[in-house]
Amino acid sequence: MSDQTSIKLSDYYDTATFSRIKALADTKETPFVVIDTATINRQYDELTEGFPYASVYYAVKANPAPEVLTLLRDKGANFDIASIYELEKVMSHGVTPERISYGNTIKKSRDIRTFYEKGVRLYATDSEADLRNIAKAAPGSKIYVRILTEGTLTADWPLSRKFGCQTDMAMDLLILARDLGLVPYGVSFHVGSQQREIGAWDSALGKVKIIFERLKEEDGIELKMINMGGGFPANYINRTNELKTYAEEIERFIREDFGDDFPEIIIEPGRSLISNAGVLVSEVVLISRKSRTALHRWVFTDVGKFSGLIETLDESIKFPIYTEKTGEHEDVVIAGPTCDSADIMYEHYKYGLPLNLAIGDRMYWLSTGAYTTTYSAIEFNGFPPLKDYYI
Ligand SMILES: *Cc1c(COP(=O)(O)O)cnc(C)c1O
Repeated sequence: MSDQTSIKLSDYYDTATFSRIKALADTKETPFVVIDTATINRQYDELTEGFPYASVYYAVKANPAPEVLTLLRDKGANFDIASIYELEKVMSHGVTPERISYGNTIKKSRDIRTFYEKGVRLYATDSEADLRNIAKAAPGSKIYVRILTEGTLTADWPLSRKFGCQTDMAMDLLILARDLGLVPYGVSFHVGSQQREIGAWDSALGKVKIIFERLKEEDGIELKMINMGGGFPANYINRTNELKTYAEEIERFIREDFGDDFPEIIIEPGRSLISNAGVLVSEVVLISRKSRTALHRWVFTDVGKFSGLIETLDESIKFPIYTEKTGEHEDVVIAGPTCDSADIMYEHYKYGLPLNLAIGDRMYWLSTGAYTTTYSAIEFNGFPPLKDYYI
């Protein structure tokens, strides 16, 4: 029995949007991803309606295409940037430095200097060595300290273990920031990407509240800002609450901890803004069975772990897959085209695909606008990077 038999396209795209995407897809050779910018536009509006009190810092790594950056620039977004390369890209589209935050806690001193020279004055940190580097290379800047959060188990793509520090260390760092002539400005967290448990924000905000209160009472430091990171949902096979529910609950959590007098709030959406706007289109290269009596067919397609689908690692993100064939479905293993046995997308979680699916048929991988194009290898086995088209 399949874990998933067939998906309902209308759960993911309205008819007009999918037709628009398909009209372009029909003219191109696979594999590629089509990104519908009207969907990004709508997702942005939904997000800012849900969080009217927050400033949006788009996490550029989700999709740094010029079409995406200029759209978000014109919508008034700010940008969360992780490297000097992203910095250059974003600024080349006319984004001014006061709309940029250097959100990576792992950075070279000379890169901090580059950000500072370009005019960026907002920096994340989670360690003493990095903080001292910032004090030297970006004197007087605003600092926010990233804390560790729970929620690793309920996020489909956890981000919370590598980054952040414990609450006590966060307080030490904010005090040190002041002593080094920096501005101790706020606290950040990321509850994990595609976080399905809204309560993860509650426990993170609870920790932030303790830091705000203790620093004020014991050290006279008044923090101004909470950066709630990303983690808001996209539509994959594992369903989540709607964004609206996230927004209502999170607002309630903030109100419980901070009253009606909200600090400055930042959110850093990536996936939730972009994923639903993209459809990755691949073609079936081969269908086979490993023995005469094998229960599962293997479906090999011309896109894989090395051409945009790295988030299928450990089968973490389960992308909905749509095909135009209908009728009876059967469990399959789905794998990519390269000569690396790690290039299997789904083996344990059984996708049901139509029995009459044939070589040459197209597979539509839904909700693939984020974290696909840039994760694609440049030449593994000679396969070119994933192409992307924007409408
Ligand atoms: C990747 C990242 C984000 C985006 O997270 P999503 O779950 O894609 O919204 C936000 N903030 C930081 C610091 C990140 O590294």
